[in-house]
Amino acid sequence: MTERPDGNYIIAATKNKHKIKEINAITAKFGMTIIPQDEAGFANIDVVEDGETFEENSFKKADAIMKASGKITIADDSGLMVDALGGAPGVYSARFCGVEHDDKGNNEKLLKLLDGIPVEKRTAKFVTVITMLFPDGEKIVARGECPGRIATETAGSEGFGYDPLFIPDGYDCQFAVLGQDVKNSISHRARALQELERILSCR
Ligand code: IMP
Repeated sequence: MTERPDGNYIIAATKNKHKIKEINAITAKFGMTIIPQDEAGFANIDVVEDGETFEENSFKKADAIMKASGKITIADDSGLMVDALGGAPGVYSARFCGVEHDDKGNNEKLLKLLDGIPVEKRTAKFVTVITMLFPDGEKIVARGECPGRIATETAGSEGFGYDPLFIPDGYDCQFAVLGQDVKNSISHRARALQELERILSCR
């Protein structure tokens, strides 16, 4: 286990370095340095994300690491909700087509299900929920949403997941075309992090 000199770190219940960087940019302002769960000695904890909501899944992930470590822990869960599909794929976003993290298969399935549905009925939103748990029982939940619509064909090469199909409100092309700078300024993840920052600054 990597013991930090001041011991003043919090653990992120993720192995995704990109997410750690984004979260750390906010929590560092509050004197809290984030380290990933594997660096903290909890690489073997793999939580089954079988909750029905983003809140449930992010709580499960944070709770498992917090209980094992006794440290402040932060976790996030995200996904896409399409209105014409009653909110699907939602918590099943990563494995919508049946194969975990098959972005191409997921996008193909989404296009197929929305075939023939007119532009005005292709509304959708990306959602991120961040849960921060403290050993004394305190719990912070921050939610961020990014509204938009699903295009009729994929475009662009940046980002991941449903970025080649998702057109955010106020724009005419997909996240994968708009690129990281635009995405980071309006994304569900950015908005959840802004909300986390707002809540932390009110504590
Ligand atoms: P996670 O909980 O952040 O790992 O996200 C679960 C799944 O939701 C991903 O595998 C993607 O399919 C989808 N997703 C979440 N955030 C994004 C995003 O910013 N762009 C595109 N797809 C996303």
